[in-house]
Amino acid sequence: MPALSITLPIKPSSASISLTKVPFAELNKIFEYSRKIKVRDKYLLHKGENYQQEIDRASRDWLFNINIHDSLTSERGKIISDNIKKSAMCTGVIDSVGPRYCPSIEDKVIRFADKTRHQIFLEPEGLNSDLVYPNGISTSLPEEVQKKFIQTISGLEKAEIVQIGYAIEYDYIDPRELSNTLEVKKQKGLYLAGQINGTTGYEEAGAQGLIAGLNAAFSAKKQSPFVLNRSQSYIGVMIDDLISVGVTEPYRMFTSRSEYRLSLRADNADIRLTPLAIERNIISLNRKTIFEEKVSQIEKAKNTLLSEQITTNSLAKMGYNVSQNGVTRSAYQILGLPNFGVQHVVNIFTKLKNIDKKILNYLYVESKYSVYLNRQTADIKNFQIEESFSIPGNIDYQSIKSLSSEAQEKLALHRPQNIGAARRIQGITPASLNALIIYIKMNYVTKK
Ligand SMILES: Cc1cc2nc3c(=O)[nH]c(=O)nc-3n(C[C@H](O)[C@H](O)[C@H](O)COP(=O)(O)OP(=O)(O)OC[C@H]3O[C@@H](n4cnc5c(N)ncnc54)[C@H](O)[C@@H]3O)c2cc1C
Repeated sequence: MPALSITLPIKPSSASISLTKVPFAELNKIFEYSRKIKVRDKYLLHKGENYQQEIDRASRDWLFNINIHDSLTSERGKIISDNIKKSAMCTGVIDSVGPRYCPSIEDKVIRFADKTRHQIFLEPEGLNSDLVYPNGISTSLPEEVQKKFIQTISGLEKAEIVQIGYAIEYDYIDPRELSNTLEVKKQKGLYLAGQINGTTGYEEAGAQGLIAGLNAAFSAKKQSPFVLNRSQSYIGVMIDDLISVGVTEPYRMFTSRSEYRLSLRADNADIRLTPLAIERNIISLNRKTIFEEKVSQIEKAKNTLLSEQITTNSLAKMGYNVSQNGVTRSAYQILGLPNFGVQHVVNIFTKLKNIDKKILNYLYVESKYSVYLNRQTADIKNFQIEESFSIPGNIDYQSIKSLSSEAQEKLALHRPQNIGAARRIQGITPASLNALIIYIKMNYVTKK
């Protein structure tokens, strides 16, 4: 049985080592801070003059009268800087890389030394709870220091900590050892998801669990894999980032990681992904029916919007600020004009009043960004062509003489599954890609 190998991304020069010979603790480590400091003070929300004002302002906006308040760490956060050397990350108890995007309070004090104040959010734990979760001050400082600095925050002078903060360190494998189904390349049948792949976060773990689980099941049933690519979903972006670039710090998913984020929107998530789920028979009949009904409503609504027309002159007469060039525009086009929203269009075309607002909002976004979306669709097409150009798993890069030895090494290390993935490897030039494509066409495609 082939042994699973891992490489250390922090020290990329390290040789691959066999998992079977390495204790788990020797795997790469990443750590993240706990944000589980809870503060109990029944009277907190009603005490102190300034604090009371905060409640009144915020409570207007919160359903069920749940208030989320922000406070600021006091300038007396000096307690933190004075004790920074006692933090687990400074004493050397923890020596791995922390999450850049959720820094601990001591991290913030070091990295943003010019700031004297840091924002925190006090989040009630629930309707029937007197616990407050102070978001923004995760920490690995010793208990006595935590107690001291919590009480320097205005509004928390009398707070009592029920669970002190702590930092955790966790082992992870190099995710470049995985294929896009999250199967370990050198250990067929083993699928990994979540923190073990170097990510942090509930959604990141859940999304990988979905893909790893589906693929394990499809593989067991001898069915084709289920893969989402970068142009289809954030799941695809995350998995591609993990398997092609690897991680050097806990990986979090951000919309900014996607080159197609105009197309990958929350409002069209079901439109993008449900058809794929229907195709693979992994959603219930009920969801399928609801989805198909929604799609048919969107189509009907779009047709209505396209058929309802008005001239710009009539629009101007109604008081709208448009150039009176006599052009006739559809309700759909008007939705896309600057300064026009759903309500304006409904006011202009009374026939649209019966259309569900959610559907109109969806068409509003589609129409507003249609020019850019069309451009992106062209980019996505090119991307998909490259993604569908598979690289044979057994390819021997050393024998491709038209590749530089740097390109040969990099491709052999990453073993990309397709040309798109090869393009995303740092240092792989368009010339190397061309050479690779020609080689595959000559030695594999034409031989079929
Ligand atoms: C204190 C804290 C606060 C956090 N807050 C947030 C947050 O606000 N938002 C956010 O998105 N993320 C947060 N995270 C990160 C998030 O919780 C994790 O990234 C995520 O839960 C990882 O999911 P996972 O399934 O990979 O691992 P886990 O949730 O750790 O699941 C692994 C499971 O495997 C079990 N297990 C381990 N070894 C064995 C074994 N040998 N046999 C059988 N079972 C085993 C464990 O008991 C565990 O149940 C926080 C993490 C911590 C520690």
